[in-house]
Amino acid sequence: MSTPQADCIFCKIVAGEIPATVVHESPTVVAFRDLTPQAPTHVLVVPRSHYANAAELSAGEPATMADLVDAAAAVARDDGVGEDYRLVFNTGTGAGQTVFHTHLHVLGGRPFTWPPG
Ligand code: 5GP
Repeated sequence: MSTPQADCIFCKIVAGEIPATVVHESPTVVAFRDLTPQAPTHVLVVPRSHYANAAELSAGEPATMADLVDAAAAVARDDGVGEDYRLVFNTGTGAGQTVFHTHLHVLGGRPFTWPPG
């Protein structure tokens, strides 16, 4: 398991050191509402362990990667968006990643277009 990073905002949310609207928890993941929602449902599912991105999590804790996807499905169900939701991992600054603690965006409650912006 990766150790918490002192300067990581999502490590602080996982530790309960800064507030967040938590909607789902398990021994391996925490899900909370995005501060700047881009859809009626916009939840971030994060591993309790610190990894910088999806690939690092998958290499370090592959079972937790599956837990993220399972938690996303539970969040979508609980928010009433059923099976119509979008899952996004932004990886790298060029792709829009701004927080370097793995997080799976769960977006739902409105129509989505493709390709994304
Ligand atoms: P990224 O751009 O890295 O894929 O996504 C980071 C997300 O984290 C953004 O959607 C941003 O709104 C959200 N975010 C950043 N800081 C906080 C925070 O302190 N609390 C919450 N709940 N969300 C945050």
